[in-house]
Amino acid sequence: MNNEAKTSQNDSKHVVILGAGPAGLACAHELAANDARVTVLERNGYVGGLCRTVHDAGYKFDLGGHRWFTKNEDLNNWFRRLMEGHLVMVQRISRIYYGGKYYMYPVALGDVIKNAGIVTIVKAGFAFIWAAVRYSVFNRPIKNMQDAYTAQFGATLYEMFFRHYTEKVWGKPCEELSADWVSQRSKGLSIWSVARESLSNRKTEVKSLIEEFMYPRDGYVRIPERMAEDVVRAGQRVLLGAAVKGIVVHGPKDIDVVYATSEGEHTIRATDVVSTIPLSLLAQMITPKASDAVVAAARSLSFRDLITVNLRLRRKQVSKDTWLYVQDARVLFGRLHEPKNWSKAMVPDDDHTSLVLECFCTLGDTIWSLSDDDVARRCVADLTEKLGFIKPDEVEGWSVVRTRFAYPVYDLEYADKLAQINEFLRRFEGLHIVGRGGTFRYNNADHSIEMGLLLGRKILGFDVDHMGVNTEPEYQEIKRADKIERDHYQLGAHLRPRVTQQVD
Ligand SMILES: Cc1cc2nc3c(=O)[nH]c(=O)nc-3n(C[C@H](O)[C@H](O)[C@H](O)COP(=O)(O)OP(=O)(O)OC[C@H]3O[C@@H](n4cnc5c(N)ncnc54)[C@H](O)[C@@H]3O)c2cc1C
Repeated sequence: MNNEAKTSQNDSKHVVILGAGPAGLACAHELAANDARVTVLERNGYVGGLCRTVHDAGYKFDLGGHRWFTKNEDLNNWFRRLMEGHLVMVQRISRIYYGGKYYMYPVALGDVIKNAGIVTIVKAGFAFIWAAVRYSVFNRPIKNMQDAYTAQFGATLYEMFFRHYTEKVWGKPCEELSADWVSQRSKGLSIWSVARESLSNRKTEVKSLIEEFMYPRDGYVRIPERMAEDVVRAGQRVLLGAAVKGIVVHGPKDIDVVYATSEGEHTIRATDVVSTIPLSLLAQMITPKASDAVVAAARSLSFRDLITVNLRLRRKQVSKDTWLYVQDARVLFGRLHEPKNWSKAMVPDDDHTSLVLECFCTLGDTIWSLSDDDVARRCVADLTEKLGFIKPDEVEGWSVVRTRFAYPVYDLEYADKLAQINEFLRRFEGLHIVGRGGTFRYNNADHSIEMGLLLGRKILGFDVDHMGVNTEPEYQEIKRADKIERDHYQLGAHLRPRVTQQVD
C-alpha cells in the first residue's frame, strides 16, 4: 500500500503533535504505524529535544550522558527493533567523587567502608538508627527532600552522597524541595537494601543494579531520529523550525494550532492535539483562556536549565566512568561523562577523548549570565586545579550548549499547581499532554517514549492509560528477576483497537 492510500484511510482524524522530542515522536511513530494522519511541529531545526547530540570537529556530544534503561521488557523489545544495527552495550561504572575519593553509585556498603573508614561508618550507622527511630518509630512526617533522604539513609550518608549534588541540580536547599522526587527516584532503596544487596552478593530477588545498558553507537539522538525516519517513511510530516504559538479550541476534537516558521504564521486544524511542550507554557497558550488562578499556577511552575560544556581533549582517556557525580560545592559543574567510554564512535580517533560537564542553572542566574567562554574556562580550571583530572594543555577546544526547560522543579507547592492546571486542561476533549516538560514529570527518555506510545494507542482507541507511566513505587535503578511486562508494543497495521473508547 502506498503512503497516500494509507493516509487517506484516516482523513477524518488528524493528530497534531507539539514537539519532536522522544515523547512526541513515539506518539507519532505509533500513530503513523497504524495509518493515522500525523503532523509533528518542532520549534528547533532538529529533532530530539533533550535527547540531543551535538557534532563538533569530529566529536559527538550528548546533552549530558543518556543511557537507555527500562524495566519493561516489551518496551525493550520495541526499542531493540527500532534501533536494530545501531546499538552498543555499555558497562556501567558510575561513581561519586567526594572528599577526594571515588565511591560507587549506586552506593555499595563495602566500598563506603573501604573509602570512608570505620569511624564514618559507625557514625553513619548511628545516624541511620536515629533516623529510623524518628521517622519510623515516632512517625516524624516526611515534609521535604531532606526528610526523605534522611529517613532512607540517615543524616551522614545524606550529607556525603546526596545533598551537594541534589542542591546543585535544583538550585535550592533540599528543605525547599518536595519529597516526591526522592520517592520517584529511590523508593525501596535504603541503607538496608544497600546492605542486603552487598551481603547477598546480588543473588536475591534483585536481578541487577543496571550494570550494563544499551546505547546508540552514534549518540542518543539516534533514538528520536530513528522514530522520525519511520514517521516520514510512513508518509507523515515532521516540520522543523515550527514554533507553536497558540491553540484555539473550537469544540470537542476541533482544534486549531497556530505556529510560526521563517515564512510567517500558519494555522493547522486537528482532531487531536498532543502536547509535549512545557506544561507551564501550554496552559497560557490556550483559547478559551484559563482563569487568572490557573495562569498564576502555570507561571509559578519552574524548570531548571542546563549549560553543557563539551571539551575536546588530546588524551586517550580521563576516567573509566560512564558518569561521575562531583559532590563538591566549590566546583561549577555537578556531573561529567566521557562519551568515548560509551561508544568509540563519539570521538574522531583513539588518541583523543572528550568530556561533557553539566552545569545546572536557571535563566538569568549567575551561572546562566556568564558568557559561554567564561563557563568553559571555569570548568577547565575546576578540572585542572581543584580536581586534577586533566592538564590544561590537553584541552584542544570546547563548545557550549544552553538548554532551557531541562528539569521540572518539584518545589513544595508544585503538586497543587499541577492539579489546578490539569483540571483546566481536562475540559478540552482531544487535547492530550505527554512527556517530561509536557506533564511536568521527572521522566527519563524511556518513560517519555512509553507514555508517547501508549497515548498513540489511546488515540487509536485502545483502553490504555499513558499517565500511569513513571508512577511505580519502586527504585528505578533496580530490575527484578520477575520482569515487568506492561503492554505489547507490536507496531504495525495489523493492530486494531481492542475495546472501549470510540474514536471518531
Ligand atoms: C542532563 C540530562 C541527562 C539525562 N539522562 C538521561 C538518561 O541517562 N536516560 C534517560 O532515559 N533519560 C535521560 N534524561 C531525560 C531525557 O532527556 C528526557 O526524559 C526526554 O528527552 C524527554 O523527552 P520529551 O519528549 O518528554 O521532552 P523533550 O525532550 O523536552 O522534548 C520536547 C520538545 O518540544 C519542543 N518544543 C518546546 N516548545 C515548543 C513549541 N512552542 N513549539 C514546538 N516545539 C516545542 C522542544 O524543542 C523539544 O524538542 C536526561 C536529561 C537531562 C537533561
